[in-house]
Amino acid sequence: MTPRPRPAARACAGLAVFSLALLSAGCEQDSGGPGPAQTGSAPAGQPSPLPPVELDLAKGRSTPVADPIYPEHGNPAVDVLLYDLDLSWDPATRQLSGQATLTVRATEPVDEITLDFGGALRAGTVTVAGATATASQADDNLTVRLPQPLAADQQAVLTVEYAGRPATVDAPMVRTDIPKVGLFVDDDGSAFALQEPFGAFTWYPVNDHPSDEALYDLSVTVPAGWAAVSGGDPQPVASGPNGGQTYRYVSAQPVASYLVALGIDHYEHRTAAGPRGLPLHYWYLTAEAEVIHQQTDKIGEMIGWLEKRFGPYPFRTAGLMTIPVRTGMETQTMITLSAGFPDAVMVHELAHHWFGNSVTPRDWRDMWLNEGWAMYAQALWEDEHGGAGGEPTPLAATLASWHNRDGALRAEHGPPANYLPGHFASPNVYYSPALMLHEIRRQVGDRKFFAMANDWVQRNKDTTQDRASFTAFVNQHTGEDLTALIDQWLDSPTTPQPLLPT
Ligand SMILES: [Zn+2]
Repeated sequence: MTPRPRPAARACAGLAVFSLALLSAGCEQDSGGPGPAQTGSAPAGQPSPLPPVELDLAKGRSTPVADPIYPEHGNPAVDVLLYDLDLSWDPATRQLSGQATLTVRATEPVDEITLDFGGALRAGTVTVAGATATASQADDNLTVRLPQPLAADQQAVLTVEYAGRPATVDAPMVRTDIPKVGLFVDDDGSAFALQEPFGAFTWYPVNDHPSDEALYDLSVTVPAGWAAVSGGDPQPVASGPNGGQTYRYVSAQPVASYLVALGIDHYEHRTAAGPRGLPLHYWYLTAEAEVIHQQTDKIGEMIGWLEKRFGPYPFRTAGLMTIPVRTGMETQTMITLSAGFPDAVMVHELAHHWFGNSVTPRDWRDMWLNEGWAMYAQALWEDEHGGAGGEPTPLAATLASWHNRDGALRAEHGPPANYLPGHFASPNVYYSPALMLHEIRRQVGDRKFFAMANDWVQRNKDTTQDRASFTAFVNQHTGEDLTALIDQWLDSPTTPQPLLPT
């Protein structure tokens, strides 16, 4: 997630929950004349064709845990291997409907399965292994009574037909750019998802916890002139019912539910090539075209820059889609971001593909594993390329400013690894852990530090990790016992001292 709230700069789809400036020219043009998604001209380099995507359910296996901070979401008795979502969106009525087919594995003997499922949605027919099952809804949960109990490690296929007008839910945050989470639906029929630490359940039945990563096969049918966007390998757009078009995306690498992208709007589509022909996909509104072309022309370079430090980009595609809210989210292979964002924020969200998306925190205590690394990568980029306005931002100055804030952030929001539950994604999980990483670097030296960072990602691709495994990895890899340093930076209510001069 992008680190700090910024004022709204432009928006072409006002949301009731946000106070957004409107740029009338672009908005009127967009809302008045929806046309089919267009393919703009690609900059230099063409994306390499992808080998066919193959879904291996074994890659969807996880070891789900109960969250210590938000235990009301997620269910450790269930491991979803694959979400096959076949959905339709009606912008006129703002109704979502369709069928979710979940391949699930029981992690313990169960006679019912409870999934997160928003109360604004209504489940219809539910089946288990093809047989109609009884299901009930309460408190943003869907509980399916199994016709036959499942033994531990036994799998079953659940289908849930459902429909409704999705509604966001309160976010456990004090930051002002994201007061709600879930699928945001605008009056004009456009929609987008922001769902960290939870909120995917506002648009599909889900084990809504990062410890249960799964594969995805997501199809969304929209009327002509609209486009539905998500991460994963894009499949050819197909004709849908009533003259609509079906957009389909397949993720053969595991995705945590908070990283699933969804955007529905009158998007234009542009493709480009990243390092080694990596396919890049950009989705934006016509009024945003100029700024998006300027911004996205740098993405290939940014990915290359990150690869030099942290190893090969860990996914098959990359890209971004725009949203009208001034914030950003590292949704897997398809960043969700407002147009006109600073380069450093793009680097931040791209860096999450190494730190957070490929190597995912097992529960929300370890949010710092995401944001500490992303902020540190962002600071390294700004050190070499300048800040938002192009001004020099030496690493030492950046770290000094963060250090000056560190004590106040710990006092206001709690230590990074023990933050106040209502203060999710506050600056304390961004700046303080980035300072910790710099301390590790200073202790072990550049060569060992960057080798450790590279190997942390490349050896743990497509897994969830936690503080214990990170600490053990750092100690083993560097040959030094940094446990006390890590514990101090993550747990102390005050800024650890002394911070050696940078
Ligand atoms: Zn972030």
